[in-house]
Amino acid sequence: MKKMEEKILAEGKILPGGVLKVGSFLNQQIDTVFMREIGEEIAELFKDSGATKILTIEASGIPIAVSAGFAMNLPVVYAKKNKSSNISGDCYSTLVHSFTHGNKNNVIVTKEYISSDDKILIVDDFLAHGSALTGLIEICEMAGAEVVGCCAAIEKGFQLGGDRLREQGYRIESLAIVDEMTDTEIIFREQ
Ligand code: 5GP
Repeated sequence: MKKMEEKILAEGKILPGGVLKVGSFLNQQIDTVFMREIGEEIAELFKDSGATKILTIEASGIPIAVSAGFAMNLPVVYAKKNKSSNISGDCYSTLVHSFTHGNKNNVIVTKEYISSDDKILIVDDFLAHGSALTGLIEICEMAGAEVVGCCAAIEKGFQLGGDRLREQGYRIESLAIVDEMTDTEIIFREQ
């Protein structure tokens, strides 16, 4: 998505440790006009996927998933991050390593919100090492639901999670893929 690349170049800030900050339009502050376009782009990419539900993870995946949900007329479920290890039996849970916070969270979804009848499109803001998407895929497997694809607004190709998941056979689409990021330059993958 050309406009995603342009927004990253215009507003993205490169932080140490391979972190890209996009708080001015995607995370803390949300450009709602652009967010609508993101949802429409995801809907176009996955129009033939047969998805029945969108799954994301709190917090920054939620606006993207909801925008895609509006465009696709699909419900959205978000996984909660739970610091406590005391997980009740009515939830699916898995451990996910947080790239940005450097800790591990139990990620939980209430069982009644995903079933073996569902075809799930997984959506998140960033795809880096792939822990968040892998955790969400595991939760779908626990529920017996089919994962029809995953979509990240921004993939950091140099952290390899996306390519690993593609090698495993998942359909992974990213609206922009950053293949290289130095203090002064961002290089996108041709797609
Ligand atoms: P992964 O699990 O693929 O390593 O990282 C993805 C998760 O970490 C996303 O849910 C996202 O919130 C966060 N994340 C990873 N890299 C970045 C980044 O460069 N910038 C921001 N804002 N979040 C990131």
